[in-house]
Amino acid sequence: MSAHRARLTISTRSRTTTVDVTSGVREAVRASGVADGICVVSTRHTTTGVFLNENADPAVQRDLLSHLDALVPRSGAFQHAEGNADAHIKSVLVGSSVTLPVQDGDIDLGTWQGVYLAEFDGPRERHLIVTVVGS
Ligand code: ZN
Repeated sequence: MSAHRARLTISTRSRTTTVDVTSGVREAVRASGVADGICVVSTRHTTTGVFLNENADPAVQRDLLSHLDALVPRSGAFQHAEGNADAHIKSVLVGSSVTLPVQDGDIDLGTWQGVYLAEFDGPRERHLIVTVVGS
């Protein structure tokens, strides 16, 4: 049993967007040399999220962002005066990490699944931590 850590850097291009980070996660798992175990992908930011969802139809990503915006509009009655209160709330709703099974040296995803960074207060340079534990 060993633990490995890698950092992914992602430059987001708009205030809200999703970025498919699956290939970077796969690369980190391969580099770890772990054949069987788990992989945790976590964000280091309070206005981003990490999630697992469909990577086939890009409309799924657009629907996710538009409905999160409808749920938590940017201009609302917020006490946090930094102008990004909606982004903090969306980050909590989406979640800050995902845990994935590692089998035969790769993350075990379904056919239509991808790992995504959700950006809610970009554009910025963002960092994800990939922790791989196993043998
Ligand atoms: Zn803030």
